[in-house]
Amino acid sequence: MGIGEPNANLPAFDPKARGGGAGADFLTTRLETMVAWARRNSLWPLPFATACCGIEFMSVAAAHYDISRFGSEVIRFSPRQADLLIVAGTVNDKIAPILRRIYDEMPEPKWVISMGVCASSGGFYRAYHVTQGIDEIVPVDVYVPGCPPTPEQLMYGIIRLQEEIATGRKSRDHRSARAAAERPA
Ligand code: SF4
Repeated sequence: MGIGEPNANLPAFDPKARGGGAGADFLTTRLETMVAWARRNSLWPLPFATACCGIEFMSVAAAHYDISRFGSEVIRFSPRQADLLIVAGTVNDKIAPILRRIYDEMPEPKWVISMGVCASSGGFYRAYHVTQGIDEIVPVDVYVPGCPPTPEQLMYGIIRLQEEIATGRKSRDHRSARAAAERPA
């Protein structure tokens, strides 16, 4: 399709039909769909960056990759103002309780991305003092593999999370609770 040609996938919009005609100056949908649409396009990330993966996160937030294209550029360092926790880096047993506290202080609904192998599995730190995966501490919605993951990988992870949110799903905590409620006694 060239510039100026009509896009058959979009609904027709006839400006002359505004104010009582049969044009597309209104739409019908469900409230849940609108809320999910707004949530998926306005994630406010809190970066819990402890190591080199945090640098890759900075790339994603900077101008070249620019996660504002996905509505996620409002970086917040207060858990009360964030709904997406991005854990980027090694988490050891000393800082793990702080990670949990930050997660607990975030309002619902909230989501978690585990960025890089260190956060996801302890990475090559097969050591007694390193948490062998943040899913021991908080529920994880999306794992982004790599050491470090590229900015494109993190963006892909955010897009996958947005697709999940668009379905109306809440965090993994909610899914687990729902699954438990639906499980026959
Ligand atoms: S996954 Fe690799 S890049 Fe990321 S924090 Fe661990 S060692 Fe650093």
